[in-house]
Amino acid sequence: MKCVICGKEGEYRICGECLAERKKVAFIENFNLEFCSKCNSVKIGKSWTKIDFSEAIQRMVSEKLRVEPNFDVHEIIIMEKAAVLRGVLNGDPVEVTVPLNYRVRRISCPRCSMESGGYYESIVQIRAVGRELREKELEIAKEIVRKTISESEGEKEFLSKFEIVKNGIDFYLGSRKLGEKISKRISEEFGGRVFETRKLHTRVDGRDRYRFTFLIKLPEYEDMDVVVKNETLYVVKNARLGKGIDIFTGKHANIFETSVAVRRNSLGWGIITNLDESSAEVMTENGNVVIVQRPFGAEVGKEVFVFEYRNRTYAFPVDL
Ligand SMILES: [Zn+2]
Ligand SMILES: [Zn+2]
Repeated sequence: MKCVICGKEGEYRICGECLAERKKVAFIENFNLEFCSKCNSVKIGKSWTKIDFSEAIQRMVSEKLRVEPNFDVHEIIIMEKAAVLRGVLNGDPVEVTVPLNYRVRRISCPRCSMESGGYYESIVQIRAVGRELREKELEIAKEIVRKTISESEGEKEFLSKFEIVKNGIDFYLGSRKLGEKISKRISEEFGGRVFETRKLHTRVDGRDRYRFTFLIKLPEYEDMDVVVKNETLYVVKNARLGKGIDIFTGKHANIFETSVAVRRNSLGWGIITNLDESSAEVMTENGNVVIVQRPFGAEVGKEVFVFEYRNRTYAFPVDL
């Protein structure tokens, strides 16, 4: 078949080149590009995405491009006021230039508006039991918050504010999910358990909206402290996991809910000089000899930690 215009041999009544010259085979609908100047994200479809500005235009153009059904576009080159489309039309390779009109609207995205408006759905509260929060714990907690937010995509994944309070810190977060994730990570890092509570905040369209509080209590004890629960003394072996050892039976035990009897830096040192069934004689670092209840793992010549608790002296092997 010959093209009716130029006479070129082909499969169509009119060849691609002639068609492109005579007919509008493609156009791009005008569009607005909404851009948040605060976080540099762009609205594509219904969601806001952090992408490069030129990539955003590229994507909007592909969305707004309308072409003749037999025009197969392979490449779109974007220029300031036009786009060049390269592809195949009626069997011929063609290049078509179409006008490009769009407006950029600088607005605050929903996330940034909520963030600057102080919006929050959950609070993560970290409290140290019977002590101040340590500087190091504060730093790690802030780092966990920062990292978790940077890994989250959603519109409400932000920190509204934080407050240093007595024995701890409060983080106000944009979503419940974020609060849940952060509190889980913090409790995994430090030990301690998460207590979740909710409070009715408001009603929206007849539905109750809650605010959630995730309270993490950090234990008072540290590794190698001596703790007490129901008159039993334990040495803390893993504060993070809440594990300790009974100093008289050597049994491993869960030490949540215990209180500190002696801090590790208040422990004295000694050596076992004599033993019987129920007691041990210990020579302390000051040269005093004391008799204590026989601890688990006692052997003559073994080094022990020595401490006083409620007017009695105790000892346990340093390698317990
Ligand atoms: Zn032709
Ligand atoms: Zn934004």
